[in-house]
Amino acid sequence: MKRPLYSLRMHASLDGDHLSGAERLLARNAVAAAAAELVERALEHSAGSADRVRLSLELVDPGAVRYLQLPELRPLRVAGLAEGRRAAVALLAQCGIPHQVAELTLARLAEGAAPGGGNMRGAMLVAADSGARLEPDAARGVRASRMDLAGDTGRKLGERLRPLGLDNPHVREALVLAGKVAAAPGVLAELCWSDDPDYLAGYVCSADGGYRRISQLKAAGDRHGGRAFFLAPGTDLAALSAYLETTPVLFDRVGTIHPPSDWSRYAATLANRA
Ligand code: AMP
Repeated sequence: MKRPLYSLRMHASLDGDHLSGAERLLARNAVAAAAAELVERALEHSAGSADRVRLSLELVDPGAVRYLQLPELRPLRVAGLAEGRRAAVALLAQCGIPHQVAELTLARLAEGAAPGGGNMRGAMLVAADSGARLEPDAARGVRASRMDLAGDTGRKLGERLRPLGLDNPHVREALVLAGKVAAAPGVLAELCWSDDPDYLAGYVCSADGGYRRISQLKAAGDRHGGRAFFLAPGTDLAALSAYLETTPVLFDRVGTIHPPSDWSRYAATLANRA
């Protein structure tokens, strides 16, 4: 018989604004420690200590779990914010996202994609061909949930990330989220940078290109961040949201982890391949 699994979610806010969120998918014996860690994270957030923290715990059917491999990871160093954003547009173009749509989406994230210029709680859904926003609620967006690392994948991932200085919760959790999103029906690519004012890196991820981490996508101290999922024309939004929000996904294999490279060098290899 398969062991029960629990979906644990944390949402923290400060003065009514979204501050921090996290998603885990765990066995019974790991629930208490993970819950304590998430509460602590909300209270110690670099943008301020949360004044409201909500935890939810839900039993999930272990028979519904999809087991996947984590995306391949390629760390890219950029010289600064401007080069980082140019790199993001170029990587999105490689995934079939027109330059104008990529630039419009970057601008929306930079300004704060929620109505009134705040951060959304989830992701924008962006039509890849037109740039139109398709998420039903522009403040909430769509949240990917019910995903985590399984078994000793966390330990193996840590061993490979540590020599690169990348073994931190940001990278681990983003890789898991991006892996679930890249496998979603209709998703061509994802763009993300954090809302944490001290964490300047971001990424572009796709099923074919893997997770390309860009060392800087925003300015130090900037509280704006967010995610955009770019959709192929004709994507079934109901099926996509159902997968993102409810299908449990566990990663039981680590993907290739490449050594860091400078964006300028990597861009040249992309140009040669084209
Ligand atoms: P973080 O990487 O946690 O700093 O989150 C950056 C932004 O990504 C947040 O402001 C949200 O807009 C979005 N986000 C965070 N968690 C999720 C999620 N589980 N699903 C979709 N979007 C998310």
